[in-house]
Amino acid sequence: MSVSRNLSNIRLRIRAAAESAGRDPDAVRLVAVSKTRPASDIIEAFHAGQTVFGENYIQELTTKLDQVHEPVEWHVIGHLQSNKVKYIAGRVALIHSVDRLSLAEEISRQWGRLELVCPVLVQVNISGESTKSGTTGEEALQLVRDCALLPNIRVRGLMTMPPFFDDPEAARPFFAGLRRLASAIEAAGIAGVEMRELSMGMSGDFEAAIQEGATLVRVGTAIFGER
Ligand SMILES: *Cc1c(COP(=O)(O)O)cnc(C)c1O
Repeated sequence: MSVSRNLSNIRLRIRAAAESAGRDPDAVRLVAVSKTRPASDIIEAFHAGQTVFGENYIQELTTKLDQVHEPVEWHVIGHLQSNKVKYIAGRVALIHSVDRLSLAEEISRQWGRLELVCPVLVQVNISGESTKSGTTGEEALQLVRDCALLPNIRVRGLMTMPPFFDDPEAARPFFAGLRRLASAIEAAGIAGVEMRELSMGMSGDFEAAIQEGATLVRVGTAIFGER
């Protein structure tokens, strides 16, 4: 199957999942996860109408930033080391994986040097599983409060990776948990903070995530094939 066929198939499934939950399908954006795929795949997807791409590894991302001249929007979705932030400052539209204050401080510092503001999501380990990165549900509110005090970063929502990838029904309670946490943080009314985005759902479970409120789904394999 071609990337373009896969993309239209995923778009139909996104639409159907949103409608089944009574949601506006346009409120869900598809992030095409292009890690390990060559720039040519990204360009092919762009010509098939895909504009948002998610990458995990900073060295790979910076190579692609130089190779892809099409006006795509880049998102960082993977674990981010503070010492790598300087390489992407001002060059990505959203960082999904802010899981600690020291990282948020470095993002704010690097974007600040450019007099820009970086939109971010706070990554939450909603299952509490020790192997998953992300702040805990209990610590998330405090991390959001601390981020809100930084001048060049703006918290726009939450992201999670549940412990199950192939069983949407097993993942569903974690998606619902992230949505509830976002509502609780929203209710805290922290100045400058918006809980507008919920980044959750991957190839195996994006429909369940959409039914539970995802606004960003991160899909790799189902678009580009097995890595
Ligand atoms: C790789 C990755 C994805 C995409 O996973 P697929 O199962 O290939 O759709 C989504 N989110 C994150 C954080 C990833 O690392």
